[in-house]
Amino acid sequence: MGRIGAFLHIDRVDHAIRPASESVCDFDDYVVPLTLEEQSEQASRCMNCGVAFCQSGIRLGGSKHEVGCPLHNLIPETNDLLYRHRFDDAVKRVALTNPFPEFTGRVCPAPCEVACNLGLHKKAVTINDNERALSDYAWEQGIDPLPLPSDDASVVSIIGSGPAGLTVAWEMARAGWRVRVYEKADRPGGLLMYGIPNMKLPKWVIDRRIDVMKQSGIEFICNTDATEHVDNITTESDALVFAIGAQVPRDVAVDGRELDGIYFAVDYLSEITNSLLDDRSCTISAKDKDVVVIGGGDTGNDCVGCALRQGAKSITQVIRAQKAPEMCNIQEVWPAERNVFTQGYGQREACELFGRDPRIFSTDTIAFKGNNAVEAVEIQALSYEGGRHRIEGAEDSLPAQLVLIAKGFLGADRSVFEAFDVEPPNLQTPSDSFQGSSSLENNSVASCSSHCLRAFDQQVQKPAVFIAGDSRLGSTLVVNAIADGLDCARELLAMF
Ligand SMILES: Cc1cc2nc3c(=O)[nH]c(=O)nc-3n(C[C@H](O)[C@H](O)[C@H](O)COP(=O)(O)OP(=O)(O)OC[C@H]3O[C@@H](n4cnc5c(N)ncnc54)[C@H](O)[C@@H]3O)c2cc1C
Ligand code: SF4
Repeated sequence: MGRIGAFLHIDRVDHAIRPASESVCDFDDYVVPLTLEEQSEQASRCMNCGVAFCQSGIRLGGSKHEVGCPLHNLIPETNDLLYRHRFDDAVKRVALTNPFPEFTGRVCPAPCEVACNLGLHKKAVTINDNERALSDYAWEQGIDPLPLPSDDASVVSIIGSGPAGLTVAWEMARAGWRVRVYEKADRPGGLLMYGIPNMKLPKWVIDRRIDVMKQSGIEFICNTDATEHVDNITTESDALVFAIGAQVPRDVAVDGRELDGIYFAVDYLSEITNSLLDDRSCTISAKDKDVVVIGGGDTGNDCVGCALRQGAKSITQVIRAQKAPEMCNIQEVWPAERNVFTQGYGQREACELFGRDPRIFSTDTIAFKGNNAVEAVEIQALSYEGGRHRIEGAEDSLPAQLVLIAKGFLGADRSVFEAFDVEPPNLQTPSDSFQGSSSLENNSVASCSSHCLRAFDQQVQKPAVFIAGDSRLGSTLVVNAIADGLDCARELLAMF
């Protein structure tokens, strides 16, 4: 275990955060990590408890998400090695369960820390920051590519290069398969690249991983909609994996929706990232505009952060859900997630700059007003009774020249399955508990227990077909998409 009794006299120290006045001037990482030495001291606080809930990754009755790390990262062992300065061994421990700690170390909301035993009495161990520090160390030392596959190796085609597709690709390459990843965007990464903004996940972090994957023989075929190459993909593959995400957005179907200046959040976020990467001006700008973001969660928070960086005049976030309580009794809910009010980085920055949190809760959008372009968003307060809402409160109007819809996602695009003549599973419809939409709409439990949609057909040489990530689970988290990708690869390999 870490240092005996360290948790009694060493306090938790988190990474630093750049002040908003500075961080909104660019799209660079807003986090300033501790040094490896400081992180090693933080790791010493780990108590190596007998029952380490942090690494359990189990679903407790009634819990919407897993408790503890869905990857079952070996957290106390890793912390102990980090504390003892056995950095290379710690990196190897992480790699046993997590192929991409450089992603989770930056974007994971750390259910492990919520379940940390120390968190019951004091502040939890900095598990997420420890993971990032070790992955940064690993990349400084250099990550070796995998051996190249043999010419006669079996072929797997993966549609989609988000964290789920990348995980399946890496695992199949590790098993010696030839791997082809089809991606309709111009760059690989899925929502890592074109959803989560640069200040949370700098894009060079994805690029360097893709480079190692390419050196390992994995082919990325970008700018390619797989549905336009069905015959090629079917004939060349022994197995086919749908990792297409769940990116069909939920709309706000009210009067005035057709007005100019109203965008889906991911279209806005991806245009910003694309313009930064291509070093050109962005076609959607919040500069000097009143911005209204509809929907809470991380997507809404990312929109707030981006609009601030583009120089918005004002930002308001309209959220149907009720405001969560400021505190809860940890002893009653631990190790499950806590329903407490939290601020994302964008909301914190908005608070620092505008003097108020941008969110208004228990409020619905009832119309968009304007003449060709949007000028205002009409809203109405909701009242909640016994968990159900009624639209009966006061109406109001918010000035808006830019509206961003961040209401979550309806699931995967069924037409991709249909193009390959594959019966789509009972795909998730309104999910997005993570994205923070109304709890009335939550439903993020995977509907099919198996990843296999169709076994290999020897007579007609049709590939075995699998599904992984958000397309199977509904909109969720990077860590869940990676865990699901690992499960999918395991199931696929067991079939061949
Ligand atoms: C704005 C935003 C912020 C988020 N922030 C966080 C966060 O901070 N932390 C966190 O843990 N999670 C976050 N998430 C959730 C997380 O990004 C997703 O759960 C995760 O990326 C899902 O991975 P995936 O591989 O299943 O799908 P995706 O990442 O959605 O990737 C699917 C890929 O498939 C491609 N594709 C689809 N159809 C085709 C086709 N026909 N041909 C070729 N390619 C195709 C798509 O272009 C896409 O690249 C966020 C989500 C959003 C939208
Ligand atoms: S992947 Fe997420 S849940 Fe797992 S140890 Fe890392 S931060 Fe915690």
